[in-house]
Amino acid sequence: MSKRGNLFVVSGFSGSGKGTVMKQLCKNEQYALSISCTSRAPREGETNGKEYYFISHEEFVKRQAEGYFLESAIYVNKGYGTPLGFVEENLEAGKDVILEIEMQGALQVKKTYPDTILIFITPPDAKVLRERLEGRGTETQDVIEKRLARAAQECAYMDQYDYIVINDDLDVCVRNITDFINYMS
Ligand code: 5GP
Repeated sequence: MSKRGNLFVVSGFSGSGKGTVMKQLCKNEQYALSISCTSRAPREGETNGKEYYFISHEEFVKRQAEGYFLESAIYVNKGYGTPLGFVEENLEAGKDVILEIEMQGALQVKKTYPDTILIFITPPDAKVLRERLEGRGTETQDVIEKRLARAAQECAYMDQYDYIVINDDLDVCVRNITDFINYMS
């Protein structure tokens, strides 16, 4: 029987650039990247089953009640959840699984699987965070302000993470995370 895989959680402020970091990490076939379910609407260019499984709010609540999710959270009024089956199957098959989820969910996962390694990605400073959120033009100003307020709250829990990486230069950030994951595996 192969050794059970490791579970890694990557979190970061909205606008930290973690989506781009994850896309780079995805290229490495040794990792199984979990695709979450969300009740938020797809952004332009997003495809169902690729970035997320886009489901209705009713379906989200139903799946939560059925125990379909390993963890779930409400983030700026929308539901997000990690399918438990995918994570378990891949860990059992000996693969390292990476979840890209926000903090509430990350801390739930750590409770369920205490060996989980938590990685946090942050931009170099608050100004860059705002610039990145505004620059991508995918959210209304109201949602941007809510996401920034959420980032300020999340600062309080950063010390729960095992590894904090500054995303100043994308390649360096991806290399640091890859090296860290390889070191921990
Ligand atoms: P976005 O709407 O920008 O794609 O994601 C918003 C936040 O939800 C991000 O911080 C992202 O990491 C987080 N997120 C994505 N999927 C999940 C999930 O399955 N569970 C939780 N708890 N957070 C998630």
